[in-house]
Amino acid sequence: MQVAKHKVVAFDYTLQDEDGETIDTSQGSDPLSYLHGADNIVPGLERELEGKVIGDQFKVAVQPEDGYGTRRDELRQVVAIENFSEVDDLQVGMQFRMPTDDEDFVVITVVEITDDKVTVDGNHALAGVVLHFDVTIRDIREASEEEIEHGHVHGPDGHTH
Ligand code: ZN
Repeated sequence: MQVAKHKVVAFDYTLQDEDGETIDTSQGSDPLSYLHGADNIVPGLERELEGKVIGDQFKVAVQPEDGYGTRRDELRQVVAIENFSEVDDLQVGMQFRMPTDDEDFVVITVVEITDDKVTVDGNHALAGVVLHFDVTIRDIREASEEEIEHGHVHGPDGHTH
């Protein structure tokens, strides 16, 4: 069986940045399961997985455009500290969900605090980063009707309701 649309794929991975620093890895835990063709993972990696079989191992460098996007300067904003008056002990690195115009939300990260101003950044932490994946395919199976309908994996290795 090959990786294709509506297959559930389990793979082990290590994700590193361009300096070889490990950002994330499945080492020490279960492989990651996802539903192929449902935008569960970044496009550049999903494309590379297409057609692979169990046991295949490969490395791929995913550019930001095919990963978590490029950094957008306009998502970095300086706001008055009063906006955070309800937050106890505001610190750099704290993250907050902010609603957006299209009823979605973005996660913003506090990057700088002065006496009266706070700089926040709405870019994804991995925006602008070239993602170096090292992947090994562990399992491929047919997705259930329900999984296809929901657009994600169910069961012990995935999302449960
Ligand atoms: Zn579901």
